[in-house]
Amino acid sequence: MTTIAAFKEVCTGFMSLLTGMRITLGQFFKPIITVQYPRQTLKMPARFRGHIRLVLDPETGKSRCTACKLCERACPSTCIAVDGAKLEGQKTKSVTDYRLNFTNCSLCGACVEACPFDAIEFSKEYNVVAFTRDAFDKMDLVQLLAARREAWTQNRPPEAPPAQLAPTPAPPPAAAPSPAGQPQTPA
Ligand code: SF4
Ligand code: SF4
Repeated sequence: MTTIAAFKEVCTGFMSLLTGMRITLGQFFKPIITVQYPRQTLKMPARFRGHIRLVLDPETGKSRCTACKLCERACPSTCIAVDGAKLEGQKTKSVTDYRLNFTNCSLCGACVEACPFDAIEFSKEYNVVAFTRDAFDKMDLVQLLAARREAWTQNRPPEAPPAQLAPTPAPPPAAAPSPAGQPQTPA
């Protein structure tokens, strides 16, 4: 190898080193986008479809489901089995059992669209795990709602105390009885 060729090779290597350093430094000052899963998790986008779940009514902390079974009938994969009962003092039925066979669910959304009470929605769960397949054959959505209700009860803002009534003004002192036949002077 001639001296000129060796010098060219050293220059090429040095330029390559500078290019690498430039890229490394450029990345070093960029914001970190790596998520340290499972210590950190991403927030799922609004249109993400996890398994369906019962909606927790933010006013009452209960389900809005009336066990009308429209979602059960709408499901093309027969994944849903709903049961309900009319509880004492209620005009409509309430859901008592809601089972989802998530192993057959195609997340098509027919059940969510069929519900007239907006009582089911897609969850944002993307990492549901279990030791056996059976855990997803008959997912108990009523039980899952009960777990969320506990968190809802704990995080609910305390109810405002009833507004205090303004004190009633004292009645004016009674006028002294006028002598008979005398007109009363207006106050
Ligand atoms: S998303 Fe589709 S397949 Fe899944 S339970 Fe609902 S209707 Fe059935
Ligand atoms: S989720 Fe909706 S459609 Fe399904 S049973 Fe309940 S109220 Fe009816």
